[in-house]
Amino acid sequence: MVRITLENITKKFGDFTALDNINLKIEDREFMALLGPSGSGKSTILYTIAGIYKPTSGRIYFDDRDVTEVPPKDRNVGLVFQNWALYPHMTVYKNIAFPLELRKVPREEIEKKVKAAAKMLHIEGLLDRYPWQLSGGQQQRVAIARALVKEPDVLLLDEPLSNLDALLRIKVRAELKRLQKELGITTIYVTHDQAEALAMADRVAVIREGKILQVGTPDEVYYKPKYKFVGGFLGNPP
Ligand code: ADP
Ligand code: MG
Repeated sequence: MVRITLENITKKFGDFTALDNINLKIEDREFMALLGPSGSGKSTILYTIAGIYKPTSGRIYFDDRDVTEVPPKDRNVGLVFQNWALYPHMTVYKNIAFPLELRKVPREEIEKKVKAAAKMLHIEGLLDRYPWQLSGGQQQRVAIARALVKEPDVLLLDEPLSNLDALLRIKVRAELKRLQKELGITTIYVTHDQAEALAMADRVAVIREGKILQVGTPDEVYYKPKYKFVGGFLGNPP
């Protein structure tokens, strides 16, 4: 079953074309990596799916529903930004609870859900702390817990591990992958890190200058690159 469809999506900023006729289908429960160099348009695709950017032309569907005109708050996506963007004046508990408070969820239910999300990310012991009292890896877990607490249909992650040191990155990579499969949540994962995309994703979309060059399983894009650029970027040049 197709969960998200991008149909002929073009996004212009003034005269500059950031996305050039993007077509992409993401299956239910799939882990899709968007892989490409810096400035290729990966974040722009994510923010277009979240509704933060409106495409200049083209349509977006969640299941069969056309959401192109639907505002971000009505799309039920969980978005984790590259810099995590926790609220500095709120405790971890409050940070995670915030999306539910916005929705006027009853207090007892919020408490249950926050605790469950914190448990999933192994941060139960940190709920009373403030973001500045956390390591980078812990902050990143809080951001993911906050994205998951409202049980989104889709999880959108924008280079979530790029601020972590190399060792921690590999550890969290494996955990995140396991969590994604456990929850069965459709996930779109933006990265410029080839190894990360190949290790984590069910399929990889390789992006360059606002165009999708190739979509396939890690094996397909690695062993059967359709373009010189794809092979080169993935570290398997012709
Ligand atoms: P990536 O995430 O792959 O590094 P982005 O999607 O952030 O790339 O950006 C793609 C291109 O679009 C870049 O050239 C960037 O400068 C441009 N761009 C992104 N957002 C904006 C914006 N809000 N206004 C103008 N240009 C933008
Ligand atoms: Mg980006």
